[in-house]
This record gives sequence, C-alpha cells and structure tokens, in this order.
Amino acid sequence: MKRRRIFISAGFWIGLSLSLAHPVNSWADAMPAPQLNTGDDVSLIAGDPNHFSAFAQELPETLSRMPAIDPESGLHVSEVKPGLFYVTEGVYQSAFLTTDDGVIVFDAPPSFAHKLLSAIRQHAPGKAIRYLVYSHGHHDHIGGSGVFEDIEELEIVAHEDIAESIAANGRPGILAPTETFDVSHKISFGGELVKLAPASFHSEDVDTIIYLPRQKFLIAVDSITPGEVPFMNFGATSDVGAYIAFFDTILEFDFDTILSGHVSVLGGRDDVIVAREYAHDVRETVSRGMTTFLDRFDVMFQKFNHENANLAYRATIEAVRRECAAEIIDRWKGRLSVVDVWADSHCQTMILHSIMH
Ligand SMILES: [Zn+2]
Repeated sequence: MKRRRIFISAGFWIGLSLSLAHPVNSWADAMPAPQLNTGDDVSLIAGDPNHFSAFAQELPETLSRMPAIDPESGLHVSEVKPGLFYVTEGVYQSAFLTTDDGVIVFDAPPSFAHKLLSAIRQHAPGKAIRYLVYSHGHHDHIGGSGVFEDIEELEIVAHEDIAESIAANGRPGILAPTETFDVSHKISFGGELVKLAPASFHSEDVDTIIYLPRQKFLIAVDSITPGEVPFMNFGATSDVGAYIAFFDTILEFDFDTILSGHVSVLGGRDDVIVAREYAHDVRETVSRGMTTFLDRFDVMFQKFNHENANLAYRATIEAVRRECAAEIIDRWKGRLSVVDVWADSHCQTMILHSIMH
C-alpha cells in the first residue's frame, strides 16, 4: 500500500542523491520527525503506525452524550422542547416543530428523509406538514426533500441564493423553494415564530441561521460538532475567515440549544465557546509557525539544489502543518474527540488561509 505520507517519490530521492557529488545533509534532517496519527491516511495493515486502532477512541464524555438509535426505525427522535423534535440517524440531523395549525420541518437529509415522514406522523398525528425550511443548499442536508413532493399546500422556504443555486445546479429529488427571502424572514404560524437570517460560515452560497426565540433553539447547519473537533477543513467551510467570525455572531442570539446538522447530539452555548477556542488555537498555532515560513522555505529550496520551488514550498507547508498538528493534538486530545483524525486538515486549511490573508 502506497503511503501518501511519503510525499517525495523514491525516484526523486535517488536522483537527488546521485546528483550531489558532496551531498548536503539530508533534507529530511531539516524536518521535524513525523508525527503519527495525524490523519494523512488510515491503514488496515497490522503494525502500520497509521493502523486504525492507533487512533484515539471517542472520548467517554462525547460517547455519554450520544442518544440511542432505535434499531427498528434506525432513528432517534426526541422532544427537545414542547412540540419541538429533533431527528438523527447518528450522522445527520433534522428537526420539526408542531404548531396549532401544522408542522414546520427543518432540512431533509437524504440519509434518512424516507423515514422522516413517518417519524413526523408518529409524533404529530393528524397534523399537516405546512413548511419545509432549507438551512443551505447542500444536497447532503436537503437532498431528501423529494419525499415531501406530494404534500399539498407545502411552502418550501429558503434564501433566494439557495433557490438560485438549486435552479442552476439542482439535482433530482430536491424540491424548488416556493417562498424565498433576501435580508431576513419570519415564519409566524400556528402561534409559533421562526426567524431566518442569512449568514456566512460554511456554504459557498449562503447559510441560514434559523432561530426559534420562544424555544431558545438555534439551527446553524454545518457549524459546530458538539463533543468533537470540526470535520475536515473546519466543517468543509468555503470561507475560513467567516467561519472564525461566526462564533461571536451566533453567541449574540439568546439560545440554550443548537442543532448543527451533524453528529447525533445537540449542542449548547458551551459547545460553541469551546469550538471557538479550538479554531482560535489552530489559528494562533499556525500563526506562530508561519513567522519562520519564508526562512524555512529558503533552507528547503537550497537543500533541493534550487531545482524545484514547488516541492520546497510543499515541504515547508508540511513541516509547519506537522508541528501545528502535534501541538493541537497534545492540547485537545482530552477535550474534544477525533482531534487526531482532523488536526492535520485544520492546520493545513489555516496555513493556506494565513498565506492568503
Ligand atoms: Zn453543507
């Protein structure tokens, strides 16, 4: 099995050695010793330092928060606040609010949308589904909306940029919005209030903060992952700067529970604060590493005989990334789960951000 961690081919290595009559110290000497388990690849080969068993288990604190998934339905459905339910199959999340006049649904992940209708009917018997709200335009959160196709008088609410994106890139199964907004929007229905505000922390189009003030419940999909460090590249954000600024924005809302669309648990304000601290720590760690970036590049380029600037640049990035990941894993391994899985990715994302900003 080829190891991606060995990023310079053996051919290059041999060629470099042969081309130097008086070789300088190995360029590898200038690089920190490789850190294990920083997520470049995962091996199934026994004895490999990146064997999956060498990665840390989820922390007990994280595991203890996870709800039981009903083996029959494959879902967990629970009433978070009176009339407000959240649904998960363990990876994605959706929610629905029952009102005097019908049901408002938030997102329809394709991974369990086919079960969502029966869950709603079970917990809101006899009530019509009247609204489906899209958090953002990504297929993995709204791609199951087709299951609502035959529901009469259903309003599908989304930001106008999401509607445009769906029209331009729509995949089969995603229902087109019927009610769009620009700056902000309110759904006042059945004695309940849902506020929608555009935001920017993840999607390349627009994100939507969905806020239920009476329930102090906030939906910000693909933002944090309670109990865990963020998914790859800080939740696959399209804008790292906006992602970091988002924590302060969201903490201005008066909420006590946040649904972030992923992992099986709901979060609280503390989860947002910890996620902010983590992102800031990665940013500051990278920032320290980048102070010597150009000097390190010069040393590396020289060791590469001034033959391949791209390779020297990559090697310099790798060195800063490895140091950052080692520090971050050390500081966070007891606080958030799966930091050894994603720290490398977070450090690399932040390095690129730092180079460009
Ligand atoms: Zn997304």
